[in-house]
Amino acid sequence: MIPLSSLPLKTESWQQQLGNAYCQVKELLADLELSTHYRPEMELAAEAFRFQVPRYFAALMKKGDIHDPLLLQVLPAAAELQHKPGFVMDPLGDQDAHEGNGILHKYHGRVLLITTGACAISCRYCFRRHFPYASHQALKNQWQPALRQLQQDPGIHEVILSGGDPLSLGNERLQLLIQELERIPHIRRLRIHTRLPVVLPSRIDQPLIELLGNTTLATSMVVHINHPHELTTELEQALCPLRRVGITLLNQSVLLKGINDSVSTQVLLCESLYSAGILPYYLHQLDHVQGAAHFAVNDQTALGLHRRMEQRLPGYLLPRLVREVAGANSKQTLPRSQNQKK
Ligand code: SF4
Repeated sequence: MIPLSSLPLKTESWQQQLGNAYCQVKELLADLELSTHYRPEMELAAEAFRFQVPRYFAALMKKGDIHDPLLLQVLPAAAELQHKPGFVMDPLGDQDAHEGNGILHKYHGRVLLITTGACAISCRYCFRRHFPYASHQALKNQWQPALRQLQQDPGIHEVILSGGDPLSLGNERLQLLIQELERIPHIRRLRIHTRLPVVLPSRIDQPLIELLGNTTLATSMVVHINHPHELTTELEQALCPLRRVGITLLNQSVLLKGINDSVSTQVLLCESLYSAGILPYYLHQLDHVQGAAHFAVNDQTALGLHRRMEQRLPGYLLPRLVREVAGANSKQTLPRSQNQKK
């Protein structure tokens, strides 16, 4: 356990808790009694991609365990500094898909809106770890150019709020944006891609529940939970009111070597998600972003794992095993034949 003095107080707002997040590797390792594992290369990796871990999330890690699956997702590593062939700055072709004003248009009928570059946590495998947010997001409080663009394209029926993490925005700004989207007649659906509630459940506060419950857009929230240890009672209690106001809850996770690449972990994750009212949606093969090669699981292993999950789970609890391919017009399901040939 992390010392009580460093745990978030129940009275703190989510913004205060965010402000108190760990931003020094040494401090987190000391609190986890792992100081002997500190290496100067960790600082170099954290310079290339910042280090930030909310104390709530750190408190879920096991003291004295350098292989803790939550710690491994956020601990900067020397391996991030190695350049591996095929691992690139923009693995999903986000820059080619950018239509301006923070709008990424990849798939038919829906667009991603980059609302912010801010996240509550820095996942070391993040596919947008090199994304130039400064030039590729809808400007603070200035949604009008993006909204005009959406208004002019009647083929767009769904807007996906992305980032960074869209729930890093305050409720007032989110409300303004959602109200503007509601005024565009051809937009019917709103989707929010977020990891914030997972690392800071207090983000699901009453004003957020009300504003999402009151929107006229059919709304879904896709959370990002990679390991059953992230699915706590606090998170479950925070998400429950969203379901009550009609929000569809889905999960996407990333298959990560040494973290969640076992059948038992994946089966437990899917079953626990369902108990918490969240449907497993996607299990992503890692996006080949520079600095994340050490998290990659090869396709043969991934397919074998997925096949064994299929044998143990009802169909509605089996997430689709997918890869995102730059320039493709949908996510690609990993072809079964690759596995059958082996
Ligand atoms: S929360 Fe999502 S966008 Fe933010 S660092 Fe993690 S993976 Fe990247």
